[in-house]
Amino acid sequence: EAAAKAAAATADIGGPTIFDKIIAKEIPSNVVYEDEKVLAFRDINPQAPVHVLVIPKVRDGLTGLDKAEPRHVEILGYLLYAAKIVAEKEGIAEGYRVVINNGPKGCQSVYHLHLHVLGGRQMTWPAG
Ligand code: ADP
Repeated sequence: EAAAKAAAATADIGGPTIFDKIIAKEIPSNVVYEDEKVLAFRDINPQAPVHVLVIPKVRDGLTGLDKAEPRHVEILGYLLYAAKIVAEKEGIAEGYRVVINNGPKGCQSVYHLHLHVLGGRQMTWPAG
């Protein structure tokens, strides 16, 4: 938790991110689902037995949800649909959580919009 906060506080908002290299397959990732619009891969620091990140392949200004514009509505909806596909593929359709951390106070550390799909255990609420 402290590490996540530190990463969020020092994140380079707007610059290239590690996700560019993951999309380009320049660094390895464990891909769960991929199509022309989105990539879903396992989080390197999983917070649940299933922890998958779903990202748009083209950032198009979407460093975070706070940058959403009308042109992004289609991809935003598609990301949620992809999260559902991921949950089905991972066998957690009966219960899971989809999270978007936004901005330093939301503990965002990678400024390429992403959905966290978490499951495989009993989730608790509220999130920290
Ligand atoms: P937080 O770090 O607080 O979870 P974010 O919501 O921005 O903030 O999530 C970024 C996520 O990206 C983190 O869960 C982190 O573990 C994950 N991550 C960072 N680098 C990689 C990588 N190379 N491969 C897979 N996941 C990664």
